Amino acid sequence: MAPMQDEHERSMAYAELALNQIKALRQPAMPRNYEIWYVYATGYNAELNKAINEALANRGRLSDSDLEQIHDCYLSPSRTNDRIDRIGARVVSEIDDMMSLLADTLGTTATFGDNLKGASQTLSLATDHEQIKAIVERLVSATREMQEANSALEERLSTSRLEISNLQANLEAIRAESLTDPLTGLGNRKHFDRVVSEAVRSAAVNRRPLSLLMIDIDHFKSFNDNYGHLTGDQVLRLVGMTLKQTIKNNDIPARYGGEEFAVVLPETPLRQALMIADDIRRMVMSKELKKKSTGEILGRVTLSAGVSTLKPDDDADALIERADACLYSAKRNGRNRVICETDPEFRKVETAKVA
Ligand code: GH3
Ligand code: MG
Ligand code: MG
Repeated sequence: MAPMQDEHERSMAYAELALNQIKALRQPAMPRNYEIWYVYATGYNAELNKAINEALANRGRLSDSDLEQIHDCYLSPSRTNDRIDRIGARVVSEIDDMMSLLADTLGTTATFGDNLKGASQTLSLATDHEQIKAIVERLVSATREMQEANSALEERLSTSRLEISNLQANLEAIRAESLTDPLTGLGNRKHFDRVVSEAVRSAAVNRRPLSLLMIDIDHFKSFNDNYGHLTGDQVLRLVGMTLKQTIKNNDIPARYGGEEFAVVLPETPLRQALMIADDIRRMVMSKELKKKSTGEILGRVTLSAGVSTLKPDDDADALIERADACLYSAKRNGRNRVICETDPEFRKVETAKVA
């Protein structure tokens, strides 16, 4: 099936789910509501789904103002930009507040300095006890004012530190979201591109081993055709989860695109990378897939994988290209297998390409 036809089927499946929800809840089928339920059906916006599920669990229905609020909060077109702008505005206002408080405190300090100077002059001229007492009283009250200004400044500094660290956490959440594939929760292609370049650089500088897996689901098109795209999406989630469960802490999995995944394996020589790839392949194959809604048994999916390892003159593209070529060779040699660049099957494909 052509990619456009494919996209047509997937989006139609989501559209149907969206319309069913609108019918079931007897809501107006206007674009805003359709958009909310369409995104809900894709499951791509975890926060939106959580907000809807909670509202439905608590109240059993969604009022028009709930829908309005959900739309504003989770779907307004420039949401990420808005969030960044709002954080920026809060940082500016925080700095403004601090600057004016600092100016006030500096003013109090200057007045205190003047008071001290004045006191020392009048003290040298003071002749009786009463005069000295008055000077000391003025000094005590000026000191108290100064202390109050200082402690207000300290208190404000500490709330400001807290506020700024909250803002940093918000920015970090936005950054993480922009690098995450919403379907599987793995890093997306942008994340992969960054990670692989950095891993190649660091392995080359430190002369450490580095390997890369490229993994592709076998015959996934027919799986989608047989069982529908929504079930296909569940399989993508399952493969993503299996990747996370099989790899070690420093290994970085990503959704490379469509039904293709990549895993960057720092500190991992070829032999070990081959074993990891094969563990992943066997783990996915061992799972019997069942349709949640009907209990229908869907069989199993298999994976093909290509493995490459860093050579001295490699850049990230060369590493990716070789893993991809190995993956291609795994497909050519019957699928459901792992091939690396030292395998005879890989050499055969390479030689054929050159010939
Ligand atoms: P091969 O074994 O050669 O890899 O065959 P294949 O059918 O897996 O490969 P092909 O490239 O022909 O088709 C890939 C399919 O993956 C087509 C598309 O429907 C499916 N796919 C890609 N992205 C998604 C997705 O996000 N969700 C679902 N459900 N399917 C997807
Ligand atoms: Mg495939
Ligand atoms: Mg593919």
